[in-house]
Amino acid sequence: MKIIGLLLLFCALPAFAGKTQNVVLIVSDGLRWQEIFTGADPSLLNEKAGGSWVSEADLHKRYWRTDVDARRELLFPFLWGTVAKKGQLFGNQLKGSVAHVTNGKAFSYPGYNEMSTGYPNDAIDSNEFGPNPNATVFEWLNKFDEFRGHVAIYGTWSTYDDIFNKKRSGLVMQTGWNLPHKAHESPRDALLHELYDTTTRFDEEDVGNSFLQIPLLDYVKSGHPRVLFVGYGETDNWAHQGRYDLVLDSAHRFDYFVRQLWDTMQAIPQYHDSTTFIITTDHGRGSGLTEWKEHGVEEKGSENIWIAVMGPDTVPLGERTHVAVVTQAQIAATVAAFVGKDYHAAVPKAALPITQVLSDTHH
Ligand SMILES: [Zn+2]
Repeated sequence: MKIIGLLLLFCALPAFAGKTQNVVLIVSDGLRWQEIFTGADPSLLNEKAGGSWVSEADLHKRYWRTDVDARRELLFPFLWGTVAKKGQLFGNQLKGSVAHVTNGKAFSYPGYNEMSTGYPNDAIDSNEFGPNPNATVFEWLNKFDEFRGHVAIYGTWSTYDDIFNKKRSGLVMQTGWNLPHKAHESPRDALLHELYDTTTRFDEEDVGNSFLQIPLLDYVKSGHPRVLFVGYGETDNWAHQGRYDLVLDSAHRFDYFVRQLWDTMQAIPQYHDSTTFIITTDHGRGSGLTEWKEHGVEEKGSENIWIAVMGPDTVPLGERTHVAVVTQAQIAATVAAFVGKDYHAAVPKAALPITQVLSDTHH
C-alpha cells in the first residue's frame, strides 16, 4: 500500500526532472511550415511571383531538388540532418501533425506573447502595443535563485524590449540596433560597434541576423546563460519585401546559425549533453502566388506554425506524424519544464507543456 501510494504521488508530481540544465528557445520570424517540411516552393522560384533577383537557373541549383526529403534538407541541413535524427519536429500538416497559434491574430507581438507567457492576450492587437503587462516565463524563471542573472533575450527586433518588458523584467537583453558597451572591449567588439554604427539600416527596428550572431556567441561563452531566447527576424522581413530568393537565403543561414549555436554550446562543459533547444516561429503566412508575402487574419493559414525540440530528454522520434495538435501557448511551460519548473502550476491559465518531448522516467 505504502509503495503504491508513493508511486502514485510521484506520478502525480508535475515537476519534471530530466538531464536538461539549460534551455534555449529559438525563433525564425514568420518562417512557414511549408518551407520547413517541403523546402523551396517551386511556384516562387522566379522573378514574377517570387520577386527573385537571382536567376531561376541559379535558384534551382541552390534550392531545388525533385525529391521532397532531399529538398528540405538542402534548405535546412541542420534541422533535417541533426534535429530530425536527435529530436522531434511538429507541424507537417501533410502528415497529420498540426502546430498552431491560439491568439487569433497571427502576427508577431501576439505570437511572441503567446509562446512566452503561455496564453494569448486579446488586448495585444498591434506590434506597437507597448510594454507587456504580463510576465513571460523568462521573467518568471529569472526570479529563482538558480537562474537569476542567467536568463537572457537576444533578438534582432527592438520590439522584444516591449514583449519581454525590459524595464520590469530585469532580463539580460540585446535587441535591434542597440549593441551594449562592455567594461573591457576587445578589437572584435570595437569592429562590431563600427559595423553597427556605419551599416545602412533595413529599418530602425531590425538588425540583420549575422549582426546578432556574433554578440550572441560571445555572450554564451562568457555569460553562462541557463535560459536563453534567440529571435532572428530576416525570414519575415524579406517575405514582406516580396523577395523569395532572400527568404530562402535567410532561412538557410538561420539553419546555419542554429547549428553554430548548438556546436558552440556543446563544446562548453556547462552545456554539453545538458542543453535543450526548442526551435519555432511566431506565426505562419498565407500561401499561393501572392499571400506568401503577408500574414494575419486576412491570409488564410497564418495560424499554422512548426515546433522542433532536441536535447537529452527528448526521445528521437524525428518528424512526428499523425499526432495530437500542439499549440504555441504550450511553449512557455515546456521551456520551464525542461529546467525542472512547473509554470502551469504557478500560472494556471498557461497551457500545459508539450509532454511528447519530455521523456519521463516514471512513465
Ligand atoms: Zn511580419
